[in-house]
Amino acid sequence: MLALALSLFLIRKFGITGGYHRYFSHRSFKTSRWFQFVLALLGGMSAQKGALWWAAHHRHHHQHSDAPEDIHSVKQQGFYWAHVGWILAPDYNEYDAKRVKDLVKFPELVWLDKWHFIPPMLLALLCGWLGGWAGFLWCFCVSTVVLYHTTFFINSLCHMLGKRRYETGESSKNSFIMALVTLGEGWHNNHHYYQHCARQGFRWWEIDITYYVLKILGWLRIVRDIKEPPRHVVEATLERTAAA
Ligand SMILES: [Zn+2]
Ligand SMILES: [Zn+2]
Repeated sequence: MLALALSLFLIRKFGITGGYHRYFSHRSFKTSRWFQFVLALLGGMSAQKGALWWAAHHRHHHQHSDAPEDIHSVKQQGFYWAHVGWILAPDYNEYDAKRVKDLVKFPELVWLDKWHFIPPMLLALLCGWLGGWAGFLWCFCVSTVVLYHTTFFINSLCHMLGKRRYETGESSKNSFIMALVTLGEGWHNNHHYYQHCARQGFRWWEIDITYYVLKILGWLRIVRDIKEPPRHVVEATLERTAAA
């Protein structure tokens, strides 16, 4: 039972980090239309709404990080709001389709976004069917709540705790521990500095499990054109980026 709960956590987590974040929000690698749908489905099973909703709000965060317009800024509105308050508020139920013009041209993604509650509902039923109430509780409920908080930590704690390698004009931080529990997303200062690449742990010791999975998918020819950080970005420092 625990193995299934952990597997469902890891697979769906990759749906968020590799799918919703690095593919749909940042287009940092390419793939086929069928695997694009698989990524949307995996992310969708996390019950974090659809890929288009997620990407539109995330692109907004990068554009306005820590400015008054930022919808989840610790600096502007504190920890609770950045962590979960903005998601519970009704103001952000919709998304601006103009922010995801590249994604709305795929009718299957628009359909999945509209009916975003179907994948998690089916998963909940499957967990119950496989493991009864215990299966529903551990494999769906607990696993989904852990998924929520490890995703929300990026918006809250990763703008509060950790070190900065780059001057980015906002509060993003790098955290080894956060990177471990978020499959590599804890290298958030790296990511804010250079958001276009699929790799977020720029140095060899910056563990980035999402990137390793993407490399394996690349060898299997399921994904391609995985964007890497350029050398001048990897070698830059806080002093140099602050002076620039
Ligand atoms: Zn991002
Ligand atoms: Zn951020």
